[in-house]
Amino acid sequence: MLRLAIQKSGRLSEDSLNLIRECGINFLSASYKLKTEATNFPLEILYLRDDDIPGYVQDGVADLGIVGQNVLVEAGFPELEVEGLGFSKCRLSLAVPRAAAYDSIQDLQGVSIATSYPKILGDYLAGQGVRANLHTISGSVEIAPSIGLAEAICDIVSSGSTLLGNGLREVETVFRSEAVLIANQTLSAEKQEQLEQLQFRMQAVRRARR
Ligand code: ATP
Ligand code: ZN
Repeated sequence: MLRLAIQKSGRLSEDSLNLIRECGINFLSASYKLKTEATNFPLEILYLRDDDIPGYVQDGVADLGIVGQNVLVEAGFPELEVEGLGFSKCRLSLAVPRAAAYDSIQDLQGVSIATSYPKILGDYLAGQGVRANLHTISGSVEIAPSIGLAEAICDIVSSGSTLLGNGLREVETVFRSEAVLIANQTLSAEKQEQLEQLQFRMQAVRRARR
């Protein structure tokens, strides 16, 4: 039986559950439960924090997972990606205080930047030849400039209203993300076949939605 890890509660949860249901897979889900078994497909669903999903799939605790590409790449396991799922689209952007002068990425040389994505940001800046001081914080990144913790930030943006509300303006897109299906790389032949069945259904659901 395949074990699929999805986010317990957050921006990925509802679309992940809907996708599985639209694949014709039936299961009961109760909010207090940490796992459920499907009744008509060899699938067990685990409900986890999204940050834990790449590691569990890498280790084989779960066979499959649904997670944002941003979290997957930051965790350092991009090779686990099987396919994009088309939801939870967002971008990781650099932003500076509205009044700050900014002409190009070179203006970030030596600047302190707060982010929850030090790996993705560090790789991006290195590719641009920029050396900055990254401060890794796990949440409320947008307030860092106003409290003097950093001069710029790099965070998830979808509409931009949170940035605006914190007096920031977006200056560079660092990474574009969507939800992706991921899989352990050493699945048994039987599980590999079940994964292919699941992918076949997911692709049919996505075609039908278009
Ligand atoms: P958890 O408690 O599971 O750790 P979280 O707070 O880290 O949850 P969420 O805010 O629920 O995470 O976001 C989960 C994922 O959804 C993000 O990693 C990203 O891929 C995507 N996402 C985040 N913000 C947006 C947004 N505004 N619009 C669309 N997708 C988003
Ligand atoms: Zn998280």
